[in-house]
Amino acid sequence: GGSARLPGQQTDDKMRAFAEQVFASETKGEDVRDEISMFDVDDDCPIMHQEMAHHLHTEDDAEKRKRHQHCRTMNVPAAAAKASATHVTASTAVVSVEVDTPTYLEVPDFQRVAIIGDYASGVTMDDFELSCKGVYRALTIREKYMRLAYQRFPLTTSEYLREIEGGSFKTEDLVQPVFTAPPKQGEDPFDTKNLPKDLGYVARMKDGVIYVYKDAAAADKHQPKDLPCPDYDTFIDDMNFLIALIAQGPTKTYTHRRLKFLMSKFNVHEMLNEMEEMKELKLNPHRDFYNCRKVDTHIHAAACMNQKHLLRFIKRSYRVDAERVVHKLNGKEVTMKELFESLHLHPYDLTVDSLDVHAGRQTFQRFDKFNAKYNPVGASELRDLYMKTENHIGGEYFATIIKEVASDLEDAKYQYAEPRLSIYGCNPTEWHKLSSWFVKHRVFSPNLKWMIQIPRIYDIFRGRNFVPHFGKMLENIFLPVFNATIDPQSHPELSIFLQHVTGFDSVDDESKHSGHMFCTKSPKPQEWDVGKNPSYTYYIYYMYANIAVLNQLRRSRGMNTFTFRPHCGEAGAITHLLAAFMTADNISHGLNLKKSPVLQYLYFLTQIPIAMSPLSNNSLFLEYAKNPLLEFHKKGLVVSLSTDDPMQFHYTKEPLMEEYAIAAQVFKLSTCDMCEISRNSVLQSAMSHEEKSHFLGQNYLKEGPEGNDIRKTNVAQIRMAYRYETLCYELNLIKEGVKSD
Ligand SMILES: [Zn+2]
Repeated sequence: GGSARLPGQQTDDKMRAFAEQVFASETKGEDVRDEISMFDVDDDCPIMHQEMAHHLHTEDDAEKRKRHQHCRTMNVPAAAAKASATHVTASTAVVSVEVDTPTYLEVPDFQRVAIIGDYASGVTMDDFELSCKGVYRALTIREKYMRLAYQRFPLTTSEYLREIEGGSFKTEDLVQPVFTAPPKQGEDPFDTKNLPKDLGYVARMKDGVIYVYKDAAAADKHQPKDLPCPDYDTFIDDMNFLIALIAQGPTKTYTHRRLKFLMSKFNVHEMLNEMEEMKELKLNPHRDFYNCRKVDTHIHAAACMNQKHLLRFIKRSYRVDAERVVHKLNGKEVTMKELFESLHLHPYDLTVDSLDVHAGRQTFQRFDKFNAKYNPVGASELRDLYMKTENHIGGEYFATIIKEVASDLEDAKYQYAEPRLSIYGCNPTEWHKLSSWFVKHRVFSPNLKWMIQIPRIYDIFRGRNFVPHFGKMLENIFLPVFNATIDPQSHPELSIFLQHVTGFDSVDDESKHSGHMFCTKSPKPQEWDVGKNPSYTYYIYYMYANIAVLNQLRRSRGMNTFTFRPHCGEAGAITHLLAAFMTADNISHGLNLKKSPVLQYLYFLTQIPIAMSPLSNNSLFLEYAKNPLLEFHKKGLVVSLSTDDPMQFHYTKEPLMEEYAIAAQVFKLSTCDMCEISRNSVLQSAMSHEEKSHFLGQNYLKEGPEGNDIRKTNVAQIRMAYRYETLCYELNLIKEGVKSD
């Protein structure tokens, strides 16, 4: 130790010893964290329990606060009251809550983060205006495509767009998807008694899109019913505009800076208001993170059980069914015992290790190896037997496993999942088979909302000559659904199944390149007869176009509609995220938004929900710590947590909770963060209006704090107000930028 002592100063012996220790350890390069902690604080500087308890119980807080009121530098109007009242002036007082507001809707006083002065600081006025005009047009493009397909677009954003145009927002312009309400007590979800009558229409595909005609004569003359389909050339125009926009220098700079600002703003908000937010939650009776509703917004049915569950099921099925004929091997019927013998296996010896369905180090950046993990013990026969809807036993085991997963969710009560089942487009009978499986095994649970995933594997089907061209694949996917919509009574099982289907997903490895560029010169689907796979965007456009027409038809019949929720931005080109911006109600993954500030900012302004699965990414594409989930959440993008494939990624009986728990630990999420993400998941999900009203509060369709019922969501009203005011502030900038000349 070489600490100098000032002359005449008495140093406490203990202090000196401590100081010497610090210096000594420094020179020796030892771990000095304990010593240094006296002078330093942790980065995230958590609020201690004691401080919190004190804050909760001392009555003088309010008094003291009042005394310090004059110290405030400025007040900012809260956008909470009305969306239009957002123009920032320093003189306006903090908004006061109306007298008749129910207490649960009140937003407690909190510290607002505000910037005074020039909006465009950081970019020139010209660049500011240019960027705002581009962003404005991009927003109107998404709004148009969402409306056409009965998908969602935020009310607040629409209101600003109308203000920019000098009009006002009309509530009748607001469209919402329609999801089937859960059966009432005593009602049978498989009841076919009340299926609507045959309309007698004819559905036919033309250039990759299904049209609906009054009758066959009208179809021959191509005089379709008025169900507007997004015009192909306009779509390409819009897409080209967006491609130019996301590459435009000034817009990239502007949006990058806005996103950085949003990040800093949240950090400051958190620092100033963390304790106030927590206070709201602590004072909220009954509700906590465990009993607020959360939905697994992205999960594949074939991997919805965890590895231990699958193992137990295999062993149990063998004990009961060893002598049952379950499979056809080389044309010969075999019992389960014989099947296992042919694989040189005995189920008794199986462990989760030999089952080998879990992803690990070897699957990172190797989607091909990951896909092989769907085969238990590497045997596709077992995948057939346990994880398929079509096999020798009519998909009985798969149905049973799913119902067991559902029953676990029902026991947990507050957890829901949206599993995906596959339709491949290989032949027109797939829908019929899948819906009979669903109805026969009564695979229904109030905790499950079904989705259909379409794998982008035309190239494989064409290679095996299953389909003559891409158009046939689209027809196989969509024509049966149109026919069941037109004449439900002739397709009772499919009609029932469709009531429980809530949307379409598009799946496959996005890092595969097709080499095809989507443009006006692209061949029409019926002309696409080469072995090569079309591009992601080509798939997305045709799926969207058919869903849009289908939704209009179903809406006109009072039926439920479908949302489009593709896997997007997990890997691959940035254009995937652009195509989804135009067509998708919400997406899964979205990792690549990191690479385009313009798109990321557009996803923020339009509040497109993103189902993120950091554990899945960790095994496939991106290390956990590098996952942008926290960053997106802080900036105000709407993120939810999902498991993707519990069989491959999770260890416990509650995979969704595992996902939340790990995110909370790694990203140091607060309870308010976790509950906000849960709330996002319910909003993103295909829960019906009735369920959402029940889970989130009856005003859930309103945006901002008035749409939040803290008694049900456990999300602080301060957080809601912060999010809402922040969105309004950014939209207001766009308005100012567009209108400034
Ligand atoms: Zn997935």
